[in-house]
Amino acid sequence: MSQFLGPQTKLAELHVHLGSSVDPAVMWEISHAQGIKLPTKNYWQFVDMITVSPSKVKSFEDYLKMFKWTELIQSSPLAIEQSVYHTIAGAYRKNNITLLELRFNPMKRNRGGEQDLDQIMMAAIRGIDRSSLEYPVRTGLIICFDRTFNHAQNEILLEKALRYQSRGVVGIDIAGPSNKKFRYAECKDLYERARKAGLGLTVHAGEDEGHNSVRDVIEHLEPDRIGHGVRSIENDKTLEMVRSRGITLEVCPSSNLNTRVIKGVGHMKQVFRALDSHHIKYTINTDGPEMLITNLRGEIDFLLRNGILDEEGVLRANKYAFAATFIK
Ligand SMILES: [Zn+2]
Repeated sequence: MSQFLGPQTKLAELHVHLGSSVDPAVMWEISHAQGIKLPTKNYWQFVDMITVSPSKVKSFEDYLKMFKWTELIQSSPLAIEQSVYHTIAGAYRKNNITLLELRFNPMKRNRGGEQDLDQIMMAAIRGIDRSSLEYPVRTGLIICFDRTFNHAQNEILLEKALRYQSRGVVGIDIAGPSNKKFRYAECKDLYERARKAGLGLTVHAGEDEGHNSVRDVIEHLEPDRIGHGVRSIENDKTLEMVRSRGITLEVCPSSNLNTRVIKGVGHMKQVFRALDSHHIKYTINTDGPEMLITNLRGEIDFLLRNGILDEEGVLRANKYAFAATFIK
C-alpha cells in the first residue's frame, strides 16, 4: 500500500454489480438457506463457479455467464437483503469505502415474475438500512435496465426506480449481454423521464462494444457517466465528446483485463494515457470485487505497481468519484 493511502483514506466506488460483489461464503450460506440445488459438489467447487479464472473466462460473454448462478441465488427478498448488507459491510471493512453505489436488475431476481418486484426492492432497502446502523457508508442503488429486455420490461424497471427514489434509488443504467437487435435509442424516452425526475444516468458502453457505442449513448441518452467507456480511446472525436460534455467514466481495470476488453498492462497504460491527455474525468472501480477476486484497494495497488497511475492520479480519480456520485 502506498504511503498516502492509509487505512483511514476514505474511498468512493461507483460501479459495483450486486451479482458479483457478495463474498462466496455468504452466497454459499444463502444458497443453502433457500434450498437451492447447486451443480457443485462442495464449497470449493462453488467458489470456482462464481469467481473468475483465466482458464474459464476468456471473453466478455464467459464473464457474464457466471451471473446466471449469482442472480439465481439472489432471487428472493431474503437473499437480496443479505447480499446488499454484506456488500456494504465488506466494502467498508476491507477498503474503508464510505460512499458506494450498488447496481442490480431486480427483474433478473424475481424468478421470471414468481417473486414480487416491490418485495425485492424493499429488501434491498432493508439491507442498506441494516448496514447503516453498523457502518458509516453512504449507499445508493442504481437500477440496471437490460440490453436483452424489451422496452416494456425496461419501462417497468424505470417505474421501480422512480417509486423507490425517495428510499435510496439514485440512478439508472443499461447492462447485460450484448444483443444485436438492441438500440440505445430505444431507451431515450426512459432516460428523459429519469433525468426529469432527478435520477442520475449512467450506461454501459465502450466496453465489449467499440467507441461508436459511446457516441451512440451520448447522442441518444445524454448520460452523466458511462460505465467503462474505455474504448472511447479508439477515436479522438469520441474522446472529445466525452470531455466536452463533462461525462465521468467508471473505469474497472481488472474487469477489463478478465473480459479481454483490455489486452494487458501495456494496453492499460495506453488507455490511461489517452484519457489523461484528453482530460477525461474517470473513477476507479472493481465492477464486482468478489467475482473478480479483487477489491478497490487491490485495483489501486495494481495501477500504482505497474506505473499506470501515480499517487496523484489515484487521488484525483477518487476525488472525481466523490464529485460524480448520484447520491445527494
Ligand atoms: Zn459493469
